[in-house]
Amino acid sequence: MIVSHWSPSGESPAEGTIPTERAAKAGFEPTAVSVLRPIPGRLSVADLAGCRPTDLDYDPPSEIELAELSRFLNLGLANLIEAWDDRPSGPLRLTKGRIRSARTCPAQVLTELTRGAMNFQLAVGTVCDLAAGVLAVHPRFSGADGWYRSLSAALDQEHPEVGEFVDNLDEMGREDFTHKVDELCLPLPDLLGDLTALQPVTHQRVALSFDQPDPLDVLLSGEVDLTAGTDVQVLVEVKSGSISPRVIDELTHYGLIVALQHHRRRQAAGPDRQQRTKPVVGCALTLGDLAVTPVPFTIENLHAAATRVLEAVDILITIDGAATQDLPIPTTPGPYCRWCPRLDRCSAGLGQVETEDD
Ligand code: SF4
Repeated sequence: MIVSHWSPSGESPAEGTIPTERAAKAGFEPTAVSVLRPIPGRLSVADLAGCRPTDLDYDPPSEIELAELSRFLNLGLANLIEAWDDRPSGPLRLTKGRIRSARTCPAQVLTELTRGAMNFQLAVGTVCDLAAGVLAVHPRFSGADGWYRSLSAALDQEHPEVGEFVDNLDEMGREDFTHKVDELCLPLPDLLGDLTALQPVTHQRVALSFDQPDPLDVLLSGEVDLTAGTDVQVLVEVKSGSISPRVIDELTHYGLIVALQHHRRRQAAGPDRQQRTKPVVGCALTLGDLAVTPVPFTIENLHAAATRVLEAVDILITIDGAATQDLPIPTTPGPYCRWCPRLDRCSAGLGQVETEDD
C-alpha cells in the first residue's frame, strides 16, 4: 500500500503493485495502488498523512543522492544561464505552470501575459480546490446549501473572478456549473478523511533559489494545495479531473523543491547537529475519477523533475532570444491547442483544430 511506482516523465508509467503487509499492520486495508488504474475510494488523504515513515514502502533518496541531484541541477542551470546573452534582470522563476507550458508549446508561455481568463473547467477546479482546503481545516463543513453557494463568501474574498464568471453564465450554464461542483465535491469528505490532528496547511508556498555561481538567480517555486502529516509530510494536489502524468509531474516539481530544501537544511546543520526532517510523499486527489494516488518522490522521479526544469529553462531562453530578435516564437501544435488561451490568435493552433475537426 501507500506508494505506487511511477517512471520518469517521458516514458510510459510503470504499473506497480505495492506490498501490503506493513500497511495492514498500520491498520489500512491491504490493497495495491496503481497510478494507471487507481482504486477509487480505497485510500484517503488522512490515511496517507497519518502513516509512519516505515509505512512508506519505498526508499527515500539518500543524502548522497540528493547532493548529486543538487549538483546536477546547479551545474545544468549554470551552463544554460552562462550561455544566455542579454539576460533580463530579475530572477528566472520556474513554476509548475511555466514548466508545463514551455514543454507543451513554447508559444503557450506567452499566455502568462493574458492570464486571468476564466473558463468553466478552471472555475469548477477553483471551487473544488477551495472546498478541499476548507474541509481539511473544518471537516464538519457541509455543502448542504450547494457547495458553490456555501463557499460563496470565501470565493468572493479569494477568487472573485469565479463569481464574475458564473454571474455571466445564462441560467442553464449556472445550473450546469453548480451541478458539476456538487457532483465533484460530494465525495471530498471521504477522500480527504479527517485531517484535523494531522497539521493541515492550505496553499503552502514552497521555493528554492539557486544563487551560486552569482548571478545564477533562478527560483523554483510553487504553491501546494494542501500539506498534512505529523510523521511524514504529504503534499496534496487537488484536481477536478482524473489522474494523469501531468498531475504526477506537477507534484514531483513540489517534491523536488521540498526534498532539496530539506537536504540543504541538513547540510547546513552539519553532522554534529542532527537535523531531522520528515519524509515527504506526494498525493494526487483527483475528483474526476475519485482517486487518491500516492506519488513517491524517488530519486529517479526527482531527477526527472530536475531534467524538466532544465528543459524548460532551455526553452525559455530560446523564447527570449526569439523575442529579442523579433522572430516568431516557435509553436508545437497538438491536441491541447483546443484549450489553449492563445488559440484565437495562433494560426498554427487554429490549423491544428481545423485538421482535427475535419
Ligand atoms: S494554440 Fe497550440 S500552437 Fe498555438 S500557442 Fe497554443 S498550444 Fe501552441
